[in-house]
Amino acid sequence: MGNTPTKLDSGNSTPGVASGDYDNDGYKSRSRHASLVNGKLNGNSNTTSSYSSRQRAHSMFDKMDHDKQKRKSTKEREHSKEIQARGLVVKYDENCDGGFLAPFGCYGFDKLDYNIVMVKRLIVERKLAPFYTPLQDFDESWSREEIIKIVDGLPLHASFEDNIEEFEDIPLGDLNKPNFDYLVDKTLTKKEQRRQHSKIFKARLYRSRLIWQETANETFLEDKMDVRLGKSKNKYLPSDDLKYSLYKNGTECPICFLYIPGPLNYSKCCQQPICTECFVQIKRAEPHFPHEEVDPTKPISDDSIKDPNLLISEPPNCPYCAT
Ligand SMILES: [Zn+2]
Ligand SMILES: [Zn+2]
Repeated sequence: MGNTPTKLDSGNSTPGVASGDYDNDGYKSRSRHASLVNGKLNGNSNTTSSYSSRQRAHSMFDKMDHDKQKRKSTKEREHSKEIQARGLVVKYDENCDGGFLAPFGCYGFDKLDYNIVMVKRLIVERKLAPFYTPLQDFDESWSREEIIKIVDGLPLHASFEDNIEEFEDIPLGDLNKPNFDYLVDKTLTKKEQRRQHSKIFKARLYRSRLIWQETANETFLEDKMDVRLGKSKNKYLPSDDLKYSLYKNGTECPICFLYIPGPLNYSKCCQQPICTECFVQIKRAEPHFPHEEVDPTKPISDDSIKDPNLLISEPPNCPYCAT
C-alpha cells in the first residue's frame, strides 16, 4: 500500500483534457449494492475442491498415468495464472465511469485470484463500482483545480518493485518464448527440478506483469499528452467535471483505509461501504460435506471417498456484520 499516490505524488497538471463522449451523467444516482452472498464471484473454490478429491482417487491408478496427469495440470495451472495476470493489467481505455476494470494493486498478485471475467462484467453492467485509483488521504479544503491536478498525476497501477529478493539470481530466459525448460538444471533431483521450475515461472510472470503494465502506462501517458497538445481527442479519458465529481464525492474504505472516489459499493445487509478491490478479497470458505450425526458404533467415514457432488459451499460472511 506504500505505493498509493499521495498529494505529493501528484505530478504535472494536464489542463484541458477533452471530455469526449465519456459517460458523465447518471453514475451518481446509481447506488451499487454489492451482494456479499453472490457466490459467483468465488465460484472456483468448489471446482478446486472436487478436483482434489478426484486427484486422490486417481492415485489408485498406475504411476505412469498419474505422472502424466500431474504434468498436464502444472502446465494448466501456469497457463491460467498467466491469463489471470494478463487480466489484471490496468488499461486506461478499459474503463467505466472514470474507474477501471482491473485493480490498482493494493493487494498482491497472490491475493487477486477472483473471477476476472465475472467482475469485469459486473462493473460494465454497473452492478459493481469500477476499480478506482485510491488516494492516501483527501483534504476537504482542496479546490476544484487542485483536485483535477492531483487526479491528472495519478498512475494507472501501484508501482512494481524492480528487484525482488525472492527472484534474485533466477534466470528468466526469453520471455517471448513460453518454453523455459532449458533453464532447469537437469542434474538436480526430479523434486528439485520441479521446485526450480516453479520459481522460474514465478519470476518470469512477475517480470512479464511489470512489462505489460509499463506498456499500458506508456500508452496512457502518450495519449494524454496528445490530447493536451491538441493533437487528438480521446473519448476514453475522463472530463475534468467527472474527475472532480468522482474524487469530491469519495469516501474512506473502512477495510483498506484508502480514500476511494464515489460512489462506492454498499453491503446489502448493513449498508457499509466497501471498495471494489477489498470486495474481491471476500472469499467463500472451503466447501464441506453435510454435517452428519456421528454414530459411535460405525467407523468414521473418509471424506475422500464421498461423492464431491454432495459438497456444500456456504456464501461468504459480510466483513462488517458477519451475516
Ligand atoms: Zn478498500
Ligand atoms: Zn453486513
